[in-house]
Amino acid sequence: MDSAALRDLLISWANLSSGSDNFPGLYRMRLALAAEFATLPGATVEHVPLAGTPAQALRIRVRPAAPLQLLFSGHFDTVYGADSPFQRCTLLDDDTLRGPGVADMKGGLVVILAALREFETSPSAARLGYEVLLTPDEEIGSFGSGPLFAAAAASRRFALALVYEPARPNGDVVHSRKGTGNFVATCYGRAAHAASPTRAGRNAIAALAEFLAAAHRVPDELPGVMLNIGNIRGGGPATNVVPDFAEAQLDLRVTRIADRDPFIARLLALAAPINARDGLHLALSGAFNRPPKESGPVEAVALAALQQSARELGLAPFTSVHTGGASDGNNLAAAGLPNLDALGPIGDRLHSADEFVRVGSIGERARLTARLLEKLASGEVRLPPLP
Ligand SMILES: [Zn+2]
Repeated sequence: MDSAALRDLLISWANLSSGSDNFPGLYRMRLALAAEFATLPGATVEHVPLAGTPAQALRIRVRPAAPLQLLFSGHFDTVYGADSPFQRCTLLDDDTLRGPGVADMKGGLVVILAALREFETSPSAARLGYEVLLTPDEEIGSFGSGPLFAAAAASRRFALALVYEPARPNGDVVHSRKGTGNFVATCYGRAAHAASPTRAGRNAIAALAEFLAAAHRVPDELPGVMLNIGNIRGGGPATNVVPDFAEAQLDLRVTRIADRDPFIARLLALAAPINARDGLHLALSGAFNRPPKESGPVEAVALAALQQSARELGLAPFTSVHTGGASDGNNLAAAGLPNLDALGPIGDRLHSADEFVRVGSIGERARLTARLLEKLASGEVRLPPLP
């Protein structure tokens, strides 16, 4: 497929509105993907129902009995709902395509397809089989498709997973990602008249604010963690009442699994002096929905092979980085399947009406993946065994 054909395929997919809650749109997108991926030689295409959502995933298998198996992961939902004003692609210049999901990650889906089409012409192809798992709920936390990732990893069939979130703007891929958690700090005090001479009230907002100011500084003390106070509410319309309730929503991130318990322990220690006071109670609830993705020996070998592929193809050099954002690569790694992420095209301004992709990078990234597959299929590069 030449660059114009890749671009036009991407435009047709990005113009199909498929926000995570747009089920008719996700259905149309899934059919469009199924039609293209079904053209891979010998492909079986399966529509997979998910628990808790009418949206379905798409699973394509090619040569499931080949000695080496890889998993390709992509999502076809976007953050742009059916009522978003951002619905169509615009070609800003020859190399810049703006549109909903062009980078995150319909551009990545085009890269997967083009890479596999190219790889299928390779003489070594018979030795490598693969599964492409395309899911409809990544942007809302992958709660429906999470079990599919866990099952794919638990099967121990795959030597490596490749994830097609967009590359960093400089072309870097991602070897590790922070884990994310959603937490709520809830504070209960005691209501009273603001002018009560007994000073019987216990102000829940003041106590929560005290906790939050301290919690906000925790990332300065504990390397590798992040905390964002994203939302706060408390009190009522009458300002002459001491408020007995306040709560804040927190976004917590950790670099390593081992950071998790000390982080929570530190926050609980900040709550303890407030809880020791008469009439106040501050509780922290929530969970980490995506564990951190750490990098190991399989990722190191795959990255080196990918960089060597770029040199052979004359593509710009890149490295791999750690990022604070989580993806389905986190879930795969947590379930025991090493993976490289951000193998999609180069793009930026994700999750905004300025999202764009570099058109030329689509074909480049597809050739890069195809070359990596070639190295793995021919035995030129051997991946270490699974951890
Ligand atoms: Zn994405």
